[in-house]
Amino acid sequence: MLNITLLGTGSPMPDPHRAGPATLISGAGEHYLVDAGRGVLMRMAAAMVGAGNLTAVLLTHLHSDHITDLNDVITSRWVMTFEPTALTIVGPVGTQEVVDHIVASLGPDIGYRIEHHEDLQGYGFTPVKVIEVSDGEIDLGGTVKISCAPTDHRPVHPTVGFRFEHEGASAVTAGDTVPCEGLDRLCEGAGALVHTVIRKDVIANIPMQRMQDTLDYHSSPEEAAQTAARGGVDTLVMTHYVPTFPSGGGDDWKALAAEHFDGDIELGDDLHRVEVRVRD
Ligand SMILES: [Zn+2]
Repeated sequence: MLNITLLGTGSPMPDPHRAGPATLISGAGEHYLVDAGRGVLMRMAAAMVGAGNLTAVLLTHLHSDHITDLNDVITSRWVMTFEPTALTIVGPVGTQEVVDHIVASLGPDIGYRIEHHEDLQGYGFTPVKVIEVSDGEIDLGGTVKISCAPTDHRPVHPTVGFRFEHEGASAVTAGDTVPCEGLDRLCEGAGALVHTVIRKDVIANIPMQRMQDTLDYHSSPEEAAQTAARGGVDTLVMTHYVPTFPSGGGDDWKALAAEHFDGDIELGDDLHRVEVRVRD
């Protein structure tokens, strides 16, 4: 069985009610954090999962809104556990360099804490292990089976989506992407697809070039629905709402998706949870 928790349903725009992009996939007692946007550890705390409980962090791409609180995950993993528990971070090529820079930026903090807490002097800083991926299976040694494939968020490149499988349940996390062959492969027969979306029909009418620029590298609810339909997916879970909508809203988003997909469609507030159905 797998559970999806939408930790952060927001976007780069700061929102008092929506944290940045982050999704938790849980199953078999394992917790996989997909992306680490603004406020991720606050939302994880609400979901009763701490940084020390994460089996791994998986990054779909290196856009700031998807990784801005990775430093918090790294630090909290270290100082909130009482024995060295290495953190595994999976991501596209380029992830190692970004993580190296984050850890370098934490240098003064790491120094202060090791100097001040005698018990930390025994083992120093928790190691961070980065695995760069592009396509195929990812062996993290857990029970949940994980694979990835390239997505298309160009000019942001490379980017990846992930598929999680456990005892007949499967969930795909697309990240930011337009419809593409790699995502189609991941979605084939999946129980659920978690897809970031933007309302292109709304944004196209906003006379700001910087908003218009986002149209060509994101999927609309309609496009996400078409991807879900092509893959024969049971449930489409939309997240990363641009523009945002109030709590309890989103029926118009669902209606747009429903024109192209006749499965279940889920969206909602941060911490919205979806149980992935087991397929026969
Ligand atoms: Zn992005």
